[in-house]
Amino acid sequence: MTMTSACRNVDTQPAANASARRKWSVVEAEALFELPFMDLVFRAQQLHRENFDANAVQRSTLLSIKTGGCSEDCSYCSQSARYKTGLDRQQLMAVAEVVEKAREAKAKGSSRFCMGAAWKGPKEREMETVLAMVREVKALGMETCVTLGMLKGDQAQQLKEAGLDYYNHNVDTAPEYYDKVITTHSLADRLDTIDQVRNAGINVCSGGIVGMGEGRSGRASLLVQLANMDRPPESVPINNLVAIPGTPLADAEKLDPFEFVRTIAVARIMMPGSFVRLSAGREQMSDELQALCFMAGANSIFYGNRLLTTDNPEADRDETLFARLGLRPI
Ligand code: SF4
Repeated sequence: MTMTSACRNVDTQPAANASARRKWSVVEAEALFELPFMDLVFRAQQLHRENFDANAVQRSTLLSIKTGGCSEDCSYCSQSARYKTGLDRQQLMAVAEVVEKAREAKAKGSSRFCMGAAWKGPKEREMETVLAMVREVKALGMETCVTLGMLKGDQAQQLKEAGLDYYNHNVDTAPEYYDKVITTHSLADRLDTIDQVRNAGINVCSGGIVGMGEGRSGRASLLVQLANMDRPPESVPINNLVAIPGTPLADAEKLDPFEFVRTIAVARIMMPGSFVRLSAGREQMSDELQALCFMAGANSIFYGNRLLTTDNPEADRDETLFARLGLRPI
């Protein structure tokens, strides 16, 4: 298919029709990726404006509440105990310390506080501590989010009762590429946790990482997987791989920045009602590239100076960028 015919044939229905829309196919998603860049970004921006305030970006702060020593083998992750990444392990933080960090984040303009723990899944005693964190952060008037790995039994329900607003659990990559990245737990395990979160009435935050060698069709397939969920995730983090020395993906070839912008734009078109979050890899992006991502439909960022274990732009740099672009926090 030529660029021009792809341009004519691609169906990008707005959100009003989205729920009635038939499921996306990978071929359709690939056709979006193949649009001329300006056409793709323009379509994404049109849909963005139909569904959101195009000059407002939601800001979340992410805190690692338990760092490193994870039993799993996710090939991109500095926190896996299997790779020598030089990361300092930290036990689960105390509740008071976490609440203090949340207070600071709120004072700097974050509306949501995300707490991440490097676990395959939380044990009962750890859950008690996390539930207390959720209750107390919620009491500050912030939205709460946690990422704790796989949930069992009634853990999702317990989190809901504690006041949890969002649970992050990424599908990570295309289904057909999944076992090249992770072997210690399956995609089905992940989807099961996402189902439990959904059934407990908690908003789903789920996205993936690009630049892991998945290719364009892999990126298309990742987005199809997310968009075709019974209800697409409310929040879709798109991470650009930060290649960490010591991990199996340390030497992964860098993704063309325009391909990253295309991924954001296709995510916006396929999930017009979801917040699309510019996540890991933002530190390495120029202000101009970030602006292009906002133009393509990204409307959420992590804010603050650490994104779990990788650097994230300092809040001051974000403030300056927001001012230069006339963006407002949500
Ligand atoms: S991504 Fe999560 S589950 Fe995978 S190794 Fe890192 S901390 Fe563990």
